[in-house]
Amino acid sequence: SGSFVAVGLGMMLGAHITARARSEIEHADIVFALVSDAIVECWVQEMRADVRSLQPFYAEGKRRTQSYREMIEAMLAEVRAGHRVCGVFYGHPGVFAQVPHHAIAQARSEGFNAEMHAGISAEDCLYADMAIDPGTYGCQHYEASQLMFYHRRLDPSAYLILWQIGVAGDRSVSRFGTGPAHRRLLIELLVDEGYPLDHEVIVYEAATLPIAEPRMERVPLSALVDADLRIQSTLVVPPARPMARNEAMLEKLARLESSLD
Ligand code: SAM
Repeated sequence: SGSFVAVGLGMMLGAHITARARSEIEHADIVFALVSDAIVECWVQEMRADVRSLQPFYAEGKRRTQSYREMIEAMLAEVRAGHRVCGVFYGHPGVFAQVPHHAIAQARSEGFNAEMHAGISAEDCLYADMAIDPGTYGCQHYEASQLMFYHRRLDPSAYLILWQIGVAGDRSVSRFGTGPAHRRLLIELLVDEGYPLDHEVIVYEAATLPIAEPRMERVPLSALVDADLRIQSTLVVPPARPMARNEAMLEKLARLESSLD
């Protein structure tokens, strides 16, 4: 009977794919791909000449949620037809990616076997390239628009990573980029949350080709308005204040420890 598996290629062409992902791609009956660019798609084609691109479901002005529904439907139709279907995505298939999660949930709800295998995400590359350990001060991750649309509790003593910064504030969910006006509102929000205007933030882009270098552009928060932000940019906001000791809890712990002596 049919099944679905979602795998990732990692970020760097040819360098990050796991043995598991490669095996799933080779052994599937039908392979669909939604990857970052045409070069990566060509590379997948070398493994599977018959790979089907999900890219044509995207279109400027079309809601991304509609494109996603159509992609999921295209893959599920083949699962229902009894095929072993593999969805190939760039990075980690389950990190800031709706299609793989929804496809798996849909397949399972219809009684099919469905699985996801981990891959190397932009987040993983970021920690390596920028020498950041998410455990040092803690690390919050948000989709930039979601941070603007909902009340969240930011902790300026932790790292803040904003995904999809290039389309921050896009309520139509169909633009390929937003501009200075949207960004000004995001900056305003961050200032209200305790980040100074001259706080240094980093526009990060992992290298996707072995010959390329990662982009790590340091700018003051205020300069984000005119920064070159692309669809593949992630914004790194370092801590703006030291962690505050929780004296009350430390005291309780001290009392607890002495009572155990
Ligand atoms: N599944 C992907 C992963 O594992 O990294 C993320 C997909 S998410 C839809 C797209 C966002 O991922 C971008 O807006 C950006 O924030 C981030 N991203 C994608 N490519 C990137 C790159 N080369 N460097 C840094 N961040 C990247």
